[in-house]
Amino acid sequence: MKDQYRETDVVRNILDIQFGVLSAQDMQQLSHAHIVSSELYNSAAGGSRQPASHGVLDRRMGTSQKDLTCETCAKNLTDCIGHYGYLDLARPVYHVGYFKNTIHILQNICKTCAHVLLKPKDKGSLCEQAKRINSYLQKKALYKRINELCKKISLCAYCGAQNGTVKKLPPLKIVHERFKTVKKGDPILTNYFSQFDTALEYNKELEAQLSSNVVEFLNPSQVLDLFERIPLADLPLLCMDQQFSHPKDLILTRLLVPPNCIRPSVISELKSGTLVDT
Ligand SMILES: [Zn+2]
Ligand SMILES: [Zn+2]
Repeated sequence: MKDQYRETDVVRNILDIQFGVLSAQDMQQLSHAHIVSSELYNSAAGGSRQPASHGVLDRRMGTSQKDLTCETCAKNLTDCIGHYGYLDLARPVYHVGYFKNTIHILQNICKTCAHVLLKPKDKGSLCEQAKRINSYLQKKALYKRINELCKKISLCAYCGAQNGTVKKLPPLKIVHERFKTVKKGDPILTNYFSQFDTALEYNKELEAQLSSNVVEFLNPSQVLDLFERIPLADLPLLCMDQQFSHPKDLILTRLLVPPNCIRPSVISELKSGTLVDT
């Protein structure tokens, strides 16, 4: 259920603060407009242009003009606090701020079944430790230890799939060297290459490509699919609490559109102003 607009001039006591990652659902809850139109203005007859409904200048996100009122709270420019909108991305994208965390999680999980790579007997005690400790530094140290342990495991204990090194490639690409630890001539590699037999018959040039190191590029859609499949019981091992954040929230599928009144000024040679309803 979406909260209706609430007055902000209510006195509240802040008892504690909990940080988390905004989920796509949270962004929708925070917003007052769903942005689906790429139009800025409706071309109205008579020359007076109006912000396009469901566009980024929609007045439900507030106004930037002195003589107009906000369509959400009906207040003017001075009193309206501004309201967010949201827009859905056509495809998931990596969040630049969470990119490092995304790579760390990928190093810790199986790139086939999404379970944390640790053996079942190790998971129990590490999970207990993760739940017990509260200090940031202790959590960071435990997270590092789990990451080091996972990086050493190449065969998944849950689905038997081969896992290798996960690395960042500039600017924002992720590569998985699945067979990094497998020796040449191993049946796993022979099986893997056999799927290219028909392709090789028709395209000899592929041979050169296949003989070099086999790498898989992980695109944001694949990573999102993996993160969605991480078992909830494994989340403490990634130092995440499902109540406040989930690994899938690290991949962006939706963006918050800032209120009109907080958008930055854009200086141009012709005129200066804000990128808002002018
Ligand atoms: Zn308002
Ligand atoms: Zn697996």
